[in-house]
Amino acid sequence: MATVAFIGLGNMGLPMALNLLKAGHRVIGFDVAAACLDKARAAGAEAADSAAQAAAGADVVITMLPTGREVREIYAGAGGLIGAARPDALLVDCSTIDVETARAMAARAREAGYDMIDAPVSGGTIGAEAATLTFMVGGEAAAFARAEPVLSAMGRAVIHAGPSGTGQAAKICNNMIAGITMIGVSEAFVLAQALGLDAQKLFDIASKSSGQCWALTTYCPVPGPVPGSPANRAYEGGFAAGLMLKDLRLAQMAAMQSGAATPMGAEAAAMYALFCNSGRSGMDFSAIIKMIAGE
Ligand code: NAD
Repeated sequence: MATVAFIGLGNMGLPMALNLLKAGHRVIGFDVAAACLDKARAAGAEAADSAAQAAAGADVVITMLPTGREVREIYAGAGGLIGAARPDALLVDCSTIDVETARAMAARAREAGYDMIDAPVSGGTIGAEAATLTFMVGGEAAAFARAEPVLSAMGRAVIHAGPSGTGQAAKICNNMIAGITMIGVSEAFVLAQALGLDAQKLFDIASKSSGQCWALTTYCPVPGPVPGSPANRAYEGGFAAGLMLKDLRLAQMAAMQSGAATPMGAEAAAMYALFCNSGRSGMDFSAIIKMIAGE
């Protein structure tokens, strides 16, 4: 069993760290928010006074932070993990951040002699609690092999995507698909209603036709056809529109930097920005159907 430093014990990080404890790992946590650290301590983790202190004795250092800005600061800022962690420690960033920062941090870590991977996740807070996350890993094969047993305690699928940055690339490409298709499915339900076609009938037919997709059959944006979808509980919980907007913007940044043409991704980002600016960034992202319906 490993000694794991876990930095960033928020909505995702805390339940992930608790699953490491459950699997028998020793967990040393750190978060700038005292309340998060207290919760981790109450659940059996050790609490450190700084990220550097948490990392000092760890075999594996995991970060789960809001954005690339915090990731740069924690790894490469003054007293950062690159340097503060043990020279043989494996560095794992699970935050969703831009590809460029992920690659820059991995290069800095490599120069200092560390193995580092980007390992963003899919599955949300429910997946974090149930240890059913999907990890998308970018980095060297040897580093992936070191990380796999630890990540497996927090997820159901741990997939090596390729070299540094490709974990983040997989994450933003996947979420761009989800954002675009959710808008497409929502437009279809709005059109169906305008044409007098019952929503359940559209579902029954499209789910067995070429319109079939995850946004329709697992995460249906109208209440009824898929009882577990957030539409049935007033679009609460699930994956917040604000987080979808963050990922769509990361995809647009990556498209600009790489020269890829993603016009539908750009449109989806613009629509989610409008939706969030209407004060609904905390609603599940499938609630975009409300804006499309003119509500
Ligand atoms: P969160 O805001 O709940 O948690 C982030 C934590 O990091 C907070 O507790 C914050 O206090 C801490 N933090 C910030 N700066 C710090 C620093 N310098 N040192 C130590 N701790 C610091 O966010 P979250 O929902 O847990 O998301 C974390 C990451 O996971 C984000 O990149 C997000 O995009 C990604 N993600 C979230 C979800 C989701 O459903 N919430 C799903 C997939 C991926």
